[in-house]
Amino acid sequence: MANPLYDGLFGAHAGKATPFLHLLDGRTITHQDFLATTAQIANVMTQIGMKPGDRVAAQVEKSAEALALYAACAQAGLVFLPLNTAYTVDELSYFIKDSGASLIVCDERSETKLIPVGSALGARIETLNADGSGHLMAQAAIMPAVFSTVDRDEDDLAAFLYTSGTTGRSKGAMLSQANLLSNAFTLAKEWRFTANDVLLHALPIFHTHGLFVASNVTLAAGGSMIFMPKFDSEKVIEILPKATVMMGVPTFYTRLLSEAGFTKALTSHMRLFVSGSAPLLAETHVQFEERTGHRILERYGMTETNMNTSNPYEGERRAGTVGFPLPGVDLKITNPDNGETLADGEIGQIEVRGPNVFKGYWQMPEKTAAELREDGFFITGDLGKIDSDGYVHIVGRNKDLIISGGYNIYPKEIELVLDEQPGVMETAVIGVPHPDFGETVLGIIIPQAGQSPDLESMMEAIKTSLARFKHPRKLIIMDELPRNTMGKVQKNILRDQYKTTFT
Ligand code: ATP
Ligand code: MG
Repeated sequence: MANPLYDGLFGAHAGKATPFLHLLDGRTITHQDFLATTAQIANVMTQIGMKPGDRVAAQVEKSAEALALYAACAQAGLVFLPLNTAYTVDELSYFIKDSGASLIVCDERSETKLIPVGSALGARIETLNADGSGHLMAQAAIMPAVFSTVDRDEDDLAAFLYTSGTTGRSKGAMLSQANLLSNAFTLAKEWRFTANDVLLHALPIFHTHGLFVASNVTLAAGGSMIFMPKFDSEKVIEILPKATVMMGVPTFYTRLLSEAGFTKALTSHMRLFVSGSAPLLAETHVQFEERTGHRILERYGMTETNMNTSNPYEGERRAGTVGFPLPGVDLKITNPDNGETLADGEIGQIEVRGPNVFKGYWQMPEKTAAELREDGFFITGDLGKIDSDGYVHIVGRNKDLIISGGYNIYPKEIELVLDEQPGVMETAVIGVPHPDFGETVLGIIIPQAGQSPDLESMMEAIKTSLARFKHPRKLIIMDELPRNTMGKVQKNILRDQYKTTFT
């Protein structure tokens, strides 16, 4: 018997004194040390009565112990449910109740407030703080450093991961062992990860990007990670000489580009920079190459599917695209009205199928049935097209599509034109209610530092590039766009803020 996820990612490194986590305090945790902590935590969870298939909800700061908690869930056959550290106790209660967790692991600071939530559910509470202290590790310290791995099947659930909540309330995506494992090995191969790689890890570990993409890929290859508690440009510049690969959301890269210390010399030894979770502006891609000589490799994925596409490691990494479907992933563009496949070049909904695609939304059978087709294709909610060279382009989310006077308008097309105007740093185009057209186009402009773009001449300039029905009815200047912790622009907030502009 076996446990594919644990055996493949963790057990494979048993007994190895090779480095796994480099912490900022100078400590290095070897694979063997990490597995010992993992086994100790697995022992604690089993002794308090956790049974295979039970859920462990964790809202904990990023730490080596927090990552070991994930590994311990895999080893003990438990379903790991990491939660965004920004959630308030009220929000947490929703997720914990929704998941029916039997164990809640939280920071000491939230413990008192979570006691009623725990007792209502009959769930036990353990604490784990940012520095690794708390009840959980106090008990783990006196446990044996070996644990007999619980048998699991690759179809068994490994994690519930809640989506980022960019378009509405977060949904719990049920991910199986095979979902995680297949993607980890595919990406490690595609991105040429080896045991010599040192990944600069500055992402949170409650999200698919930092937890599964970054950590699982490194584990699959047997490499190590510099585990930073959070992103900090100055710290990254200090640490980068020790890394070979970096993964980040686009805002990491724009912030690094605004630092004079981020130079070609600093990055010349690097093997790879990967970006995802939100669109990387083509302009950032170009600026990054000018500054460092590296072309950022952009990939596309989501909580429900892990990663679906990637620009090539060898071959052209094309700015403004998310590359090609990964091996084993089928991707098609379909007509949202009837689900028929569209010709290359046409814009439609992106659907994906493969071993990476989740098992459905937890306790949302109707939503699952509406988005996960019987033949295995998942309707991602993103709109895109495939160009004549096979590169996938994302043009935005279905929910952001503007329908004005019966015409479909893709915000991205207008954003690309606005982004080109003098003095503009970035833009967001949204649809807002309009008495005649149902919806109309509103453009939000974020100027470059110290610039005040002339909105009237901008309106004139875009007339030559865009058909009349796509012209923004109004342009508005803002200092910055609302973004969530993964750097995603929250268009729902903008739509709400400007909903009465024309009514
Ligand atoms: P919710 O589903 O709760 O509204 P969310 O979709 O933002 O939130 P995630 O699963 O974290 O939650 O994000 C996946 C989404 O992120 C994708 O569907 C896509 O819209 C966007 N995304 C990811 N990578 C890229 C990329 N490289 N370019 C453009 N968009 C991307
Ligand atoms: Mg989503």
